[in-house]
Parts: sequence; structure tokens; C-alpha cells
Amino acid sequence: MPAHAIDLRSDTVTRPTQEMRRAMAAAEVGDDVLGDDPTVQRLEEAAAARLGKEAGLYVASGTMANLVSLLTHCGRGDEAIVGSESHILHHEAVGATALGGISLRAAHNDARGRVTAEEVRGLLRPVPPRTALICLENTQNRCGGAAIPLASMREVSGVARELGVPVHIDGARIFNAAAALETDIRTLAAEGDSVTFCFSKGLGAPVGSVITGPADFIERARPIRRMVGGGMRQAGVIAAAALYALEHHVERLPDDHAHARRLAEGLASMPHVQLDPTEVDTNIVFFELDPAVDGVEFRRRLAEEGVLCSSTTGPQRIRMVTHLDVTSEDIPVAIDATARVLRSF
Ligand SMILES: *Cc1c(COP(=O)(O)O)cnc(C)c1O
Repeated sequence: MPAHAIDLRSDTVTRPTQEMRRAMAAAEVGDDVLGDDPTVQRLEEAAAARLGKEAGLYVASGTMANLVSLLTHCGRGDEAIVGSESHILHHEAVGATALGGISLRAAHNDARGRVTAEEVRGLLRPVPPRTALICLENTQNRCGGAAIPLASMREVSGVARELGVPVHIDGARIFNAAAALETDIRTLAAEGDSVTFCFSKGLGAPVGSVITGPADFIERARPIRRMVGGGMRQAGVIAAAALYALEHHVERLPDDHAHARRLAEGLASMPHVQLDPTEVDTNIVFFELDPAVDGVEFRRRLAEEGVLCSSTTGPQRIRMVTHLDVTSEDIPVAIDATARVLRSF
């Protein structure tokens, strides 16, 4: 990898800033499993307040946040409805199944990541295996980081409420969704009983996610986090980074979205590239390479030019993600490098 690579593989690649590192170094800590790490407690309270929820639980990753949430909502033999393009289904299903005895049923996500109320209604089972949970995702990672509008979420949560089934929102990038939709984050979060989000993606912290929800739900989730090995001791050191991110990196997310849109507009006119820049809602750009360009070789040559990207759903489908460590000057550089590489085929 070149020394000053423009790393567009994911928004998880950010490194803590100097200010964030200072906050980490200065963090007051205690043993969080014993309940006395003040920085973790401040983070959990701040995250919950930000989403309009009663309580929060700091966990190691987005995967653990979803797993602990599913294990708290569902019993063995229960079903959870998830989107057909959801991260929970594609990357985390084995956890829910193997550790929780929870089976997942997929509701179709359209190309923009939406699920219809009619479909969810049709999938709901009132008798065993009963539907114990409905999961929504926002932004919808595999659907190009699409921001799911409030009306679409309400359609599904309305059915859930009517039938007395709780809703979990995998909001790994929910701050990106709120920014893109120009909707208050609490209004979006209100559509879920529990809502999780990642500090380690667009918010730029090195580690961690949080589960938010009613106080009694979080109290039930706490021993389950411990059960899956998520009890962390002087976690205030990393929680301080997450707290810093929450306080300083939310307001800048529209910059990442503007960068992604400029990148998409630059790429859309290139030969071999299939991309509609109007579908780039947030910080994720997906495009399809036609068969004349081998996707694996494309990524290799682009990396030699100092631009890294990924392909998460097949070699011809390329993903570029903007984040805190990608500057506005990097965008034209990445566009030019991509054009050069495409000309080489
Ligand atoms: C990244 C992601 C996760 C998992 O988060 P990790 O911290 O990588 O475990 C879950 N859901 C969505 C939608 C994600 O994008």
C-alpha cells in the first residue's frame, strides 16, 4: 500500500485524531464490569440522550450490539424478521442462530433498501415459531448506503405496533441517515424499541458500538453482553474516543456525503462504469464494472495508484466509502486515478 493511500475501502479505517487521542489519554476509568467506569457511564447516557432513549449499553462492535439486542428481545425458537439485504442476515445470521436459537426470516428489501408493510404483515406469525422481533436497518449498507425515509420506517413500525411486536433498528450509520434525510435523529430512533449504532464507522472512533432503549431492556441486555464475552474492564479509554466522536464528528457527516456525491458524479461518466449518482444518499458509493474490466485486476491497479476500494458483493461491484480521513482534495485525485486505471483496460 502506498504511504499516502486514499483509503476508500470503508469508513471503519479512520484513525483516531490527535484531539481524540488526548481525550483517551485523559479518560477517567474504573472497572466497567463492576459498574464503576465513569467514562463508559457518561458515554452510555450521552448516546441514549442523543437518540431520545432511556439508557445505553456500550459494546465492542456493531455485530455484538445486534447479537445482544436479538438475544434480549427473542427466546430460543423465536423468529426475527430481517431485511433480505440486511447486515444481520448476510453477516451475522450464524450468531443469532447458533447462540440464540433464533431463526431469521427475510422480508424483501427493494433496490433502495425499503421493505413494505404488507410483506411484513404477511410474514408475521402469531403462533410458534412466533415472530418476536422485526429488524430495520438505516442506512441500508448493501443498498448503496441508502437513507431509509421516515415514512418507510413508519409503515413497518406501524404494523409492528399494531401486532405488539418490538422493532430493533440496526442503525450502524443512523447519524448518516439523519443527516441525509435532514430528520432529527430522535424522530428516526423513535421508530425502534431498541436502536444500535457504531462509533467506529463514520463517527471515526477506533472501537465500539452502543445499544439504546428502555431502561429495563438495557438492564436485561447487560448480563447477556457479559455472557457473550463483552464485559470490558477499563473501557473508559476507548469510550472516551467514542464520546469525543459523538460530540465532535456528527456535525461533519454532510461533508462525507458531499464528497461521496462528487466522487459518484466524477465516476458516472466513465466508460465501463454503471452508476447513478442521484442514488448516493450518504457516504457509500457502489458501482458496477462491465465485463470488459476485471474487477479484481481493477482494484489491484487502482491500489498501485494509491486508491483503495473494496468489493463486498461480487468482484464487479465496487464500493468506495468516504470518511473523516478523506479530504475534499482527495476526491479529484481518486477520480483521476480511476479514469487512468479504466483506460488501461
Ligand atoms: C458494520 C455494520 C455492522 C457490524 O458492525 P461491526 O462493528 O463491524 O461488527 C452491523 N450492521 C450494519 C448495517 C453495518 O454496516
